[in-house]
Amino acid sequence: MVVFERRLASQMKHWISLSGGVGSGVSALTARRFGYDFELVFADTLIEDEDAYRFNRDIARACSKELITLTTGKDPWDIFVEKRYIGNTRTAHCSTELKTRPVMRFLDKFAGAGDALVLGMDWSEQDRIERAQGVWGDRPIVSLLNRHKITRPQHGAILALAGIKMPRLYEHGFPHNNCGGFCVKAGLKQFKTLMTSFPERFDQHEKRMSQVMEQIGPTARPFLRKTVNGDVNYLTLAQFKEAVEDGQIEIGEYDYRGCGCFSDE
Ligand code: SF4
Repeated sequence: MVVFERRLASQMKHWISLSGGVGSGVSALTARRFGYDFELVFADTLIEDEDAYRFNRDIARACSKELITLTTGKDPWDIFVEKRYIGNTRTAHCSTELKTRPVMRFLDKFAGAGDALVLGMDWSEQDRIERAQGVWGDRPIVSLLNRHKITRPQHGAILALAGIKMPRLYEHGFPHNNCGGFCVKAGLKQFKTLMTSFPERFDQHEKRMSQVMEQIGPTARPFLRKTVNGDVNYLTLAQFKEAVEDGQIEIGEYDYRGCGCFSDE
């Protein structure tokens, strides 16, 4: 069975979605190490951390590959205005419009029908891999990290062997390196981390949110939620910042929540 799977794998091209996340970077280095036929595709949301661009460039260089960058020219806030709806934990049309659809269109045009899309998720995100397969239909969704039994504690050593520095967002405590630490699916803790680690970036998002809410009108609803005595309260980034500064909000130490790009559509 393993031999059969390896033979199949050697016949197909693997298109690695290089997101800026360490998992996708290590997947690319793994593809190089095991001699896969592969390419690197990066869907740029235009609000990535500067260091995510550095990381992707380093990975592409170490793999001797050109980095194929796809962009729609829009960022998540542009999408929310266009759809007249701000993304949230359940509906992340930013991910659909800026990542999934551009990559799908690109692969439909340039990849073979049986070519695989590689996502940088491992066994700990098996549910996302399974959901992604549902989104991507007949195109095989592959985790090279699972196939080659690579676990998270090994990531640092694999990057170090290639002389590549870990993306800096992880050092700040972010669980992902997507959208520069911003994410409509993220929890309060992640936004507090964004506020303390990158205050200017937080302020820019705060401004964009108030502009976008004005453009959308009274139906606009922010994505941050705080439940008090069973009642759900929605908070703008400005209200959240004020509550944090005034010490009026309790934030769970692990309230990061996951980004669902490529798997939740
Ligand atoms: S990381 Fe979050 S904000 Fe960025 S595209 Fe994905 S779901 Fe949207």
